Amino acid sequence: MTAVALPIAPRPRPYELLSSWLARTAACYDVTASELRQILCPGIRQTGARPDVRWNRAEASAAASRLRIDTDVIMSLGLKRRWPKLAQNWLPSTDGTGRARGDIDLAWCHLCLAEGHADGQAYLDAETALPLIFCHRHRSWRQDFCRHCRPYHAPRFAWLGRIELVCSDCGVPLRANIWNGPRPATDSPPEQTSEAMDHLIAFDGEFRRALLGRPACLPGVGRVAARQFLTVLRDLSQALLAPDMFRSSRTNFFNSPLVPNMPDHEPRTWEERPFQELHPLQRAHVACAVIALLSNEQISRLMSGSRPVHDWLSLEWLLNSTPKWVQATLIRNSIDWPMPLRVRVEAHHSRTGMDAEDILSQFRAWRAELDHRESERVSLIG
Ligand SMILES: [Zn+2]
Ligand SMILES: [Zn+2]
Repeated sequence: MTAVALPIAPRPRPYELLSSWLARTAACYDVTASELRQILCPGIRQTGARPDVRWNRAEASAAASRLRIDTDVIMSLGLKRRWPKLAQNWLPSTDGTGRARGDIDLAWCHLCLAEGHADGQAYLDAETALPLIFCHRHRSWRQDFCRHCRPYHAPRFAWLGRIELVCSDCGVPLRANIWNGPRPATDSPPEQTSEAMDHLIAFDGEFRRALLGRPACLPGVGRVAARQFLTVLRDLSQALLAPDMFRSSRTNFFNSPLVPNMPDHEPRTWEERPFQELHPLQRAHVACAVIALLSNEQISRLMSGSRPVHDWLSLEWLLNSTPKWVQATLIRNSIDWPMPLRVRVEAHHSRTGMDAEDILSQFRAWRAELDHRESERVSLIG
């Protein structure tokens, strides 16, 4: 028996995120996107929490027939179909362990939402799923929470005369919740702030290219393979955010005029925070630091907010000032870095004569000992 088609079914926009289209359709029936998927395809093995990347064809064709649309149209919304070389492991996790809450990732552009609204209905475009700082169409900061309240829940699509993306806590349409980015440092001349902004937007644009599998320009190095760009960013973010003896991190030394007065990063666990799991503002802070580490002295000082009398926060500064296990990790991982950077790490390696593998195995043993003591402590206390 053929399942009955649903009476109302908005058409997906050509550049729309699949989960946005599902959530908009679900809002017409006042159900959630996952409830809608159960209704559309009862008994079919579902794709999992995140249909955006690649949708199971059986589920897609069942949904297509009930929503009166061609299966290929909705299959083409999948991110892997749109960008076959997408670095999937760089998408923020939606399984409840990372930053993203719910099926839809939460870094939207309010101008894109407003344009969609003016044109019929607000929706989230495919780029919303990428861990970017900016919308590159509007050069505007991405937002990941409602500034009208302090929300506890993920935003949702709701029917308010027409479909809107709203804050689940206070109900404000997010296209109208305008935030134009952090206030730049007051002691920094406007021309410097705007130059720093150009560097950050350019970096985020190159990061976007690398995410999509295209060669990208790394500051201070030039064009590199997508994989090399992502590896350097992963390793430098990890080094900047790593806890040290005083539970502080190297990232706290940076005070870019674009994101001044960021609270200190003081991790209380050894758990890693990958770049893609940071909020857009924290990503901007780390990205400014990465640009500063790799660029020439003038750009480095601009991006790090360091005055001429203070240290130049270069890659060499990082290598000399991080805990030994971080230095050893950088030495080990730099074999996958572009040659000009690898040479700089090798110079540090030979100057210090460090045995990276030995340091890392000592560090792993120490961590295992700590974990063991912690589990004993918990079992004693109860
Ligand atoms: Zn936009
Ligand atoms: Zn709100």
